[in-house]
Amino acid sequence: MEYKKDFKFGLVAIIGRPNVGKSTLLNALIGEFVSIISPKPQTTRVNILGIKTTQNYQIAFFDTPGMLEKTKYELHKTMVEEVKKVIEGSDVIVMMVEPVPEIGNIEKNLIELIKKSGKPAILTINKIDKVPKKGILPVIDIYAKERIFKEIIPISASMGEGVELVEKTIVNYLPYGEKLYPEDELSDKTERFFVAEIIREKIFNLYGEEIPYSTAVEIDEWKEEDKRIYIKAIIYVEKDSQKGIIIGKSGEKIKKIGALARRDIEKKIGKKVFLELWVKKKEGWRRDRAFLKRIGYIS
Ligand code: GDP
Ligand code: MG
Repeated sequence: MEYKKDFKFGLVAIIGRPNVGKSTLLNALIGEFVSIISPKPQTTRVNILGIKTTQNYQIAFFDTPGMLEKTKYELHKTMVEEVKKVIEGSDVIVMMVEPVPEIGNIEKNLIELIKKSGKPAILTINKIDKVPKKGILPVIDIYAKERIFKEIIPISASMGEGVELVEKTIVNYLPYGEKLYPEDELSDKTERFFVAEIIREKIFNLYGEEIPYSTAVEIDEWKEEDKRIYIKAIIYVEKDSQKGIIIGKSGEKIKKIGALARRDIEKKIGKKVFLELWVKKKEGWRRDRAFLKRIGYIS
């Protein structure tokens, strides 16, 4: 690609409460799996950078962990700090809300942070497929009154509705500049990290409320063999009783995680994979900063 003097480059943060659809939007914008999507809140533990490059611009997206009302654990505290950092570090902010005509506490906090930052912000009202058309206007109204958003765009991230308009609008507010990343790069996260995230996604989708939040995944070994890649991953839990739950009766649950994860990993990296899963107890891992760093949940 040749150099263009009107090329635009910028960092864009997608912020919003857990479960609002940030990862879904990011994946729709990038067009490939970059961030795990789950019906349970707080799945995204780190800022994932997805990159979109065209002839005229490059956008580096952050899919932030949800802004949380309570800061119970070290992990949660770090998440809130991360949201602030991300806002400070971005050129354009995309805030996402549910299609409800009420500004919640999380949203109030986010609006405050945006105001303080002085950055251009776009509001997306997501999941419009879930509400009747006339239910959307009041939502637009109450957010318009805040007088902070450059544009308010109703979308359905999972149906792909409005996604192109979001991208166009972002580009309008993007500063001019040269690209920072190679054009074929989709993310600055390593393949290892994605593999761990895929495994975690399966755990999120297979177990009840308690287990997913007590679980961390680490890639312990990664060997490129002749025709396949051997990957050993460790699933950490907080209590012994959770080990049994993860493994399931005669191992059927963990086999299922393995099979589902392997299929997606092979799709993602385009090679045959031999996946070995281990379950270990690690009490209090959420408060262990060194561990959180090692597995890439905090930087
Ligand atoms: P995040 O926590 O903000 O990253 O949210 P996710 O992207 O993980 O999505 C949370 C849940 O909302 C998932 O079950 C998604 O399938 C669902 N979701 C996301 N976008 C939409 C949408 O436009 N419409 C509907 N009905 N559901 C959506
Ligand atoms: Mg997410």
